[in-house]
Order: sequence, then C-alpha cells, then structure tokens
Amino acid sequence: MLLRGAALRVTRPRVAVLEAVHTESHADTETITRAARRALPSVSHQAVYDVLRVLTEAGLVRRIQPAGSTARYEARVGDNHHHVVCRSCGAIADVDCAVGHTPCLTASDDHGFVLDEAEVVYWGTCPDCTAQRITQ
Ligand SMILES: [Zn+2]
Ligand SMILES: [Zn+2]
Repeated sequence: MLLRGAALRVTRPRVAVLEAVHTESHADTETITRAARRALPSVSHQAVYDVLRVLTEAGLVRRIQPAGSTARYEARVGDNHHHVVCRSCGAIADVDCAVGHTPCLTASDDHGFVLDEAEVVYWGTCPDCTAQRITQ
C-alpha cells in the first residue's frame, strides 16, 4: 500500500483521493473531488484539498500548474517528466525527458545551485483542437 510506504496513516479520504489521482491524470481539484466522491460520497472539498497537500508533500502525488491553469495533480512522480499543454482547451499530456534520464537537470550553468527539478512546459495545439480548426 502506497500510503504505508510513505509512512502516512491510511484514511478513507486519502485512499479515495489517491485513487482519483491515479484514474484522472492531470486533473484539477474539482475533477478529483468528483472522482473521490464516487468512492466516498461524504468527502468534503476541503478534505480533498488537505489530502492533496499531504500526498504532494509525501511525494505520492505531483502538483503541476501551467501558466494560466489551475493546479493539476498526477500520480506519476519522481521522474521529472515534462508536459505538453494545449493553448486552446488546456489538455495536458506527459512528455518524457528529451534524452535519457532527467538530463534537463544538467543545466548548462547551475550557478552553484543543487538542482532537483527542471520545469519544462511545451505549449501548442492538441490534435482535437487542430482538427477543429481545419474543418471550420
Ligand atoms: Zn486542445
Ligand atoms: Zn504528467
């Protein structure tokens, strides 16, 4: 059980939210709340918000926030992967590091900083939005 591995107490809201993050990738808090309520109808918005913070701090969930977007959460953690974001509809998909294993952490000049994250967002237009533009 992931929660025990992270030394977190197993509570029903934590299980429900963690499962929601696993099924709804890059979802916002609203979407996660809706998904968590399918398993645990009584869970409050505030409880989901609190659980997401705890899970993020424990490293079980990664929080991303592309410019102009609300915070999104995903279960794929620890690999510093990047994201492609659609400018039209906000769709988000995973993009692996361009070469090898987190090479983006090898900055051309780290200025003496100890780096632990490189944030890269690729912006563009998703296939659905591109198709709509062509047919309009
Ligand atoms: Zn789109
Ligand atoms: Zn992702």
